[in-house]
Amino acid sequence: MNKKHFQALLEEEKSKVMRERQRLRKGWKGDDRSVWLEEGAEDESASADAATALMEKEQDLLHWNELQQRLNDINRALERLREGTYGICEMCGQPIKPARLEALPWTTLCLNCRELVGG
Ligand SMILES: [Zn+2]
Repeated sequence: MNKKHFQALLEEEKSKVMRERQRLRKGWKGDDRSVWLEEGAEDESASADAATALMEKEQDLLHWNELQQRLNDINRALERLREGTYGICEMCGQPIKPARLEALPWTTLCLNCRELVGG
């Protein structure tokens, strides 16, 4: 287990996630919810625009939640690296395959357990 390698992967992913969060937040600045939520807009194209904007916003929120979740996972993985439990499945206690850690350095479950819990 090359700790430094995985720590570098995690730190890199973490800064990526932080940058992405900042980008999302900037996009929200100055938006006007009231326009989107206004009911009975007379101009059909305007209300279609509003619907599109609202959908994009919802996707942004979903994305935001994903990023938040990812950040939590990364922080937990970094903690586990410090504690020396990194790369051990939280459910079954078996080592997680290096290829899986390479692809998802923040994962806390081996593939079998991930399939068991779903997702
Ligand atoms: Zn497992």
